[in-house]
Amino acid sequence: MTAPVVETKGLVKSFGDVTACAGIDLTVARGEIVALLGPSGSGKSTLLRHLNGLTRPDAGQVRVLGADVATVKGAELRALRRRVGVVFQQFNLVGRLTVMENVLHGALGRVRGPRYGIVTWPRSVRAEAFEHLDRVGLADRAYQRAGSLSGGQQQRVAIARALLQRPELMLADEPVASLDPETAASVMDLLVRVCREDGLTMVCTLHQIELALEWTRRVVGLRLGEIRLDEPTELLDAVRLRGLYLSDPVTV
Ligand code: ADP
Ligand code: MG
Repeated sequence: MTAPVVETKGLVKSFGDVTACAGIDLTVARGEIVALLGPSGSGKSTLLRHLNGLTRPDAGQVRVLGADVATVKGAELRALRRRVGVVFQQFNLVGRLTVMENVLHGALGRVRGPRYGIVTWPRSVRAEAFEHLDRVGLADRAYQRAGSLSGGQQQRVAIARALLQRPELMLADEPVASLDPETAASVMDLLVRVCREDGLTMVCTLHQIELALEWTRRVVGLRLGEIRLDEPTELLDAVRLRGLYLSDPVTV
């Protein structure tokens, strides 16, 4: 059996009086597509941020792709971050640069490239970037300013950028929360599809039950920093998941 991509044990993280993660045990195997579902403030983003070393635990263990997130630093931390693609709610593109330049930023960790301009990037990297743009359906927008695209298109560019990292683990923090329902569905479809095609492991925070049910294979339900349920999506329904959003513990 191969080692899990993510393994946390007793992960605790507090901010002052607030305990964002109250002892999280989570194991994610290679290739899994997992939703972290829960109401606002339940600790989803904090848990996710541990998985690329943006946050360190106060207590407990966090192992991601073999690295110990509690202690990893320097070159080893940079290497870990290169292996983890990240997609954010607000896309985080550089709006005044072209779509292509934004995608190329995904290669900065592994190729010595210029931060701006595309001409001096190796031809092979430009070709790879263009391939990913084509996969996300935006090949015809390569030379437009990223800031001129719609929200859904910008998130597609962010996905192409993350793919150019050639990541093993993809993290998405509320990737469709800023989009209208129809666009949200098409972006979730794309994200899950490219992760499957490339054999990536994906962990995605969501706060909408319907999105988790439709697009992911396993739902980890959080409330008040604790895991309240962890099950294959096919065994779940909206009625049970709504329990996460109520004050009583979920009865399973
Ligand atoms: P979610 O993503 O589920 O909405 P978060 O992980 O963002 O939840 O937050 C969990 C709790 O931790 C919340 O009460 C939030 O206010 C608090 N929190 C998260 N990050 C910080 C921070 N950097 N400083 C202070 N409090 C924080
Ligand atoms: Mg959040």
